[in-house]
Parts: sequence; structure tokens; C-alpha cells
Amino acid sequence: MQIFLEKPNAVRLATLPPLALYVHVPWCVRKCPYCDFNSHERAGELPEREYVDRLLRDLEGLLPSVWGRPLVSVFIGGGTPSLFAPESIDRLLSGVRARMRLEPGAEVTLEANPGTVEAGRFAGFRQAGVNRISLGVQSFDDRMLAALGRIHGAVEARRAVDAAAASFDNVNLDLMYGLPGQTLEMAKADIEGAVRAGVPHVSAYQLTLEPNTVFWSRPPKLPEHDACADMQVMVEDALGAAGYEHYETSAFARPGRRCAHNLNYWQFGDYLGIGAGAHGKVSFPDRITRHARIKQPKEYLARDDTLAEQSVVAPKELPFEFMLNALRLVEGFPVTLFSDRAGLPAAMVEGPLASLEQEGLIERDWQRIRPSPRGRRFLNEALERFLAA
Ligand code: SF4
Repeated sequence: MQIFLEKPNAVRLATLPPLALYVHVPWCVRKCPYCDFNSHERAGELPEREYVDRLLRDLEGLLPSVWGRPLVSVFIGGGTPSLFAPESIDRLLSGVRARMRLEPGAEVTLEANPGTVEAGRFAGFRQAGVNRISLGVQSFDDRMLAALGRIHGAVEARRAVDAAAASFDNVNLDLMYGLPGQTLEMAKADIEGAVRAGVPHVSAYQLTLEPNTVFWSRPPKLPEHDACADMQVMVEDALGAAGYEHYETSAFARPGRRCAHNLNYWQFGDYLGIGAGAHGKVSFPDRITRHARIKQPKEYLARDDTLAEQSVVAPKELPFEFMLNALRLVEGFPVTLFSDRAGLPAAMVEGPLASLEQEGLIERDWQRIRPSPRGRRFLNEALERFLAA
């Protein structure tokens, strides 16, 4: 009699994770000198109709891989999706709803640049079914905004926040700190500006110099490492004192206002990626796959098949990929989540977890595994342990 046993460490998922949708809109008014996203300066009219058609075709191509699975969230990011007319966003979201079921109350976020929106446009996005706005404010200080090459000033930033708040109760502000010429007091004033605006969510990122950006080839003088570390502590303290829960490395939310879409990434959920350069992750009972689309908008629009890559994630890469996301969560994750989402035995990560616990970089009990405050500061060092797991 022949018995076919499973290979050790084969991926087996008992249930599939929640599924989200990421939509990429790759155009901006102007390319910011620090930005390494797939964003391209627009030249003339945007091909909105053609692009929305293409997005929906991308989605259709993915449907056989996710039959019957509802969407828990949609995130329209970029780039600057707020450059699209509300009618285009309406056509996109109607098209999504016609092809897939959205969970009741699903979060639908649209990223907006304060230089591209006014009250009427926000109302239109709301009508189209968007229920959360993420505003790329970055700073409320004109000097900082100029240093960052942003297309808007502080007055426009404040006006955009007010206009967003008139149509949406769920608004995120993106802020940056560690900016050229910025002092601790200046960074604090930005955080206070966000708190005064009364938004329920703030994302605060330290400026980093990324390859293939203008800042990389011509680096501005940034505050010293210690000054940036002080700013990070200030951000956490000031937002904590104002009632925001620090729930992920850079994310702060009022109770009940955490970003469902990003939480799904950090909890190693699935997501479909449509649009130029979009990435996705789709799990099946016996494998976890990734896909990526053609990056260049022109080529993306011209080609019949927009998939640039698709691959099955090797089981040995899953511990690192899972921890890269889950260890960003301040409250960590349930002990069973690794097996549930990576489809691998918990024993595969027990060695690195035990050594990180001994060194005080993670804390755990029988229910949860979470990074310690020191572990959050040295996250990259902690993650390296899982490369070889
Ligand atoms: S607006 Fe945002 S996406 Fe566009 S170039 Fe600037 S940072 Fe990048």
C-alpha cells in the first residue's frame, strides 16, 4: 500500500483570511522630491474613463481566484486619487460593487492631496460611496511644506481638513516629522494642529531618504538621529495625551477608528491589487500567492494583460513576511494568527520568538505576542531573526 504523506512545512490554511481591495491611481500634480511611490507627474487631461475601465478589467481577471469572498475594505491610493472626478470614483465603486460583495459597513478610503480638493469634490466622493478620507497634509508649516516640495501651503492644508470634515466623520491626516530644518517645537506644533483639527486618525511618519528620489541624489540636511528619536517620543506622548491609541508603528486612532484596511495588511490578510504598479496577495487552501501590475501608466493602459508578476510565496519566506507586518502592531497578535494566516506550524517560529523574548524584544502570554517598547525601537533587528526561520 502506498501512503502519500504531506511534506513537512507545506502550507495548509483551514480558513481563508479577510479580503480587501487596493486600487492605485498613479498620477500627481507634481512629483515630491522625497517620494518613491509609483506616482507620475500628470501631463494634460487624465485618461479617467479609460483607466477606470482598465481597473475593472483587472478586477474581473482576479474574480475566479476569490469567488464568493466578500471585500472587507477598499483603499483608493496613489499617487493622488483626488485628481479623479467624483463621477469617475462613482463609476469605479459602482463597478466594484457590481462584481463583488462589500461587507456591510466596509471601510472605503480615498487618498486626497490638500492641493486638489475643495468642498464640492469631497461631497461628490462621499456620494460615490467613499466613507473615509486620508489627507496627505504632511505639515501645517509653510516652511516645511516648501522644503518638501508640496503643492499646497498651510492655509490650503487647514482648508482641506475643514472641507473633508464637512463631508466625512472618518478622516486620517498624514504627517511627517524629521523634516529639513525642523525643530522639536515645530514638529510638536504640527501634531497639535492635527489634534485641534479633531480628526479621528493620524499617521505620523519620519522622513527617510529613499533610493530613486531627488532627496536621495541631493540629500537635504535633516535633523540628527537623536533629535528625530525625541520627535518620535513627542509624537507618541502628545497623541496619547490627546486620547489617540497608538496601535501601529506610525498609526494613532481615536477608539473605534483604527484603519480597517491597513489592519488587514498588518494581520496578514489578503488583498487584490488593481491599477498601475499595484500589488496583491491572495491565499488558497494550499498556497499563498502574490501579484503585481505593470508600473508605467502608459504601458499599463496599452497592454491587454496588466499582470507584471505573479508568484507563490515560498513557505520559508512566510515567517519573515508575516512578522514584518504583525510585529508593527503595538498590541501584537493572537498566538494562533501565524498558523491561521501563514498556514504553517507555530513551531516554525518558536526558536526566534523564544530568543526575542529572552532579549526583551517581545512579550507574550498564552493569548498574545507583542513587541516590547524596546522591540518596537529595534524592529528591524527583531525581524532579521525570521529570515532564517
Ligand atoms: S503627492 Fe504623494 S504620491 Fe504624489 S508625489 Fe507627492 S508624496 Fe508622492
